[in-house]
Amino acid sequence: MKERTNKRFILPVVKGKKSFWPTKPVCPVCGKRKVWEPHSMAVLSAGALLMNRREKSGGPSNKMDGYLSLEWHGAHNGGKGRDKEIGCMVYVIRDAVGGQADLYFCSTLCLRRFLNACVDELERRMAKERKALQQNAERYRCVAAPSRKH
Ligand SMILES: [Zn+2]
Repeated sequence: MKERTNKRFILPVVKGKKSFWPTKPVCPVCGKRKVWEPHSMAVLSAGALLMNRREKSGGPSNKMDGYLSLEWHGAHNGGKGRDKEIGCMVYVIRDAVGGQADLYFCSTLCLRRFLNACVDELERRMAKERKALQQNAERYRCVAAPSRKH
């Protein structure tokens, strides 16, 4: 069975009052197999519990907005590492009211493909930031060292 590959997703896949993805009971990656109860599924859960420490219990709360993100933080101020001076972020989940969200996949393979697509998106944004940094440096060089007039 041939699977879809190189699929791009509109990120974040969960935002606001929506607390799960996909919104139909079909795997969002392969689009073929079922997810949700009572079917088999791999679940990526993100969230936090607003705790009552005294009672040692907790749960979702509208006081919290949940998120799941991937970030590139380039070195700066003499720090070492690749892709210095740039930074960017990909939100997979953003402003999830209640602080919790679940993403469902038919298999670990589709979960892995989704995570790869998210990292691919981060790398696309890094490439864009890298290009913008380079163009700014070239623009600065032109302003700082204008050509001499004859
Ligand atoms: Zn699938």
